[in-house]
Amino acid sequence: MNTPAESIVNGSAAMLKQLPSLDRFLKLTDCSILTEQFGVSLVTEQARGLFSALRASLLAGAPIDLKSFNEAGWAAQLRAQCETVCAPRMRSVINLTGTVIHTNLGRAVLSESAMAFVDAMMRGPNNLEYDLSIGSRGDRDSIVEELICRITGAEAATVVNNNAAAVLLSIAALAGGKESIVSRGELVEIGGAFRMPDVMSSAGSKLVEVGTTNRTHLRDYAQAINANTGIIMKVHTSNYVVQGFTQSVSEADLAPLARERGVPLVSDLGSGALVDLSQWGLPKEPLPQEALKDGCDVVTFSGDKLLGGPQAGIIVGRKDLIETIRRFPMKRALRLSKLPFAALEATLRLYLHPETLLQELPTLRWLTRPVADIETIAAGLLEPLQSAVGARYRVEMAQLKSQIGSGSLPVEVIPSAGLKIKPVEVKKRGTALEALSEALRGLPVPIIARIADDALWMDLRCLERVDELTRQLPALQERLA
Ligand SMILES: *Cc1c(COP(=O)(O)O)cnc(C)c1O
Repeated sequence: MNTPAESIVNGSAAMLKQLPSLDRFLKLTDCSILTEQFGVSLVTEQARGLFSALRASLLAGAPIDLKSFNEAGWAAQLRAQCETVCAPRMRSVINLTGTVIHTNLGRAVLSESAMAFVDAMMRGPNNLEYDLSIGSRGDRDSIVEELICRITGAEAATVVNNNAAAVLLSIAALAGGKESIVSRGELVEIGGAFRMPDVMSSAGSKLVEVGTTNRTHLRDYAQAINANTGIIMKVHTSNYVVQGFTQSVSEADLAPLARERGVPLVSDLGSGALVDLSQWGLPKEPLPQEALKDGCDVVTFSGDKLLGGPQAGIIVGRKDLIETIRRFPMKRALRLSKLPFAALEATLRLYLHPETLLQELPTLRWLTRPVADIETIAAGLLEPLQSAVGARYRVEMAQLKSQIGSGSLPVEVIPSAGLKIKPVEVKKRGTALEALSEALRGLPVPIIARIADDALWMDLRCLERVDELTRQLPALQERLA
């Protein structure tokens, strides 16, 4: 019998002769199963690659594993290659990071009704731009405009690809070739290269900064307005706070000035919750309905942050200004596709029924989940997880702090619960943690947790299908063995 060492030989030119011809190889039963599953073209392409790589290694005298140097071995290798090529790239993951609206993990998770509606609408043609009452071309905005206006109290609304597009389009349409007045305290960077000064120049508007980083007064705005002013812009500083000796001018205080001087007041709310989160003890995020009541003329916000829908940018406000924005040529390049359109409509319809909203909308359901419920899940997972990770690690219950995410007030956290996994040996703790994190990410449904303070932390706030995790524990144990 061969020992493992003996089954590895250095490739030789003589072994080249043992390689079958491509045609003959592809006629083997193992290969015809593969061509049935993956198609002739892919299997042929992969087999050609496999044999030319083998040939190259043999000629180079590279080590060859004799055990798999046969037809069955090559077919198995070919299967693995085809599976890799055809494997889905986008994967479902389990978010245990504690950040509920995680931009890297796809932000808001859609409700069941939104997914069902997308499925129903995408299976065939729909009335995306067809007015069924008159039997001719319609505007896609009309599908959601009335719903958005009903919820936010706006006169008019239009939607685009995301909030970055909503901001860009609003500035370009209302202040292109003119000046936009923004407080120095609100020249934000959102991440992913979305910086207010750059957005202004992309939109063709001249940025006029007023005030200072920490303090801006109403008179600063008043002095900056001139005949070439296009808009006054307020930007919700969602991802940072300026503390201490600070002063900013609220929308309500700016609105009379803007109206008196005939300059539209535009507000980028970022997240833009459609319901007041403070009623559930969560940090208060500004609502578009409040911004409009305070006198903003145009308000923009995201569809996939606290709203809980698909990626989209929503622009609401004065009818004449929304019309100008809608007619602006750039709108065509930024329009929302039918897929998120269906999801957005179904999500907005959930807001018509506030009594069931928390139950139906995953984002709100998770954000308002009682800590006691999360603790119960953690307690149930403690032992199964401990036996899966083995004696090298110690699993403990942990009190945690979740974040809303997506730029919503990172300084405000929500009490949460979960598990803390610490390597028992202090030596090489970093390596052990990285191995654990990698094993979790390598599972069929990858588990994304957080490493901090020499431990791996699993915040269970967003874990609802617990069996999706427990089902994978044997695989985790195998990966760590
Ligand atoms: C998130 C955010 C944006 C960008 O919105 P997207 O929907 O990601 O394009 C713009 N402005 C503010 C203040 C934000 O928080």
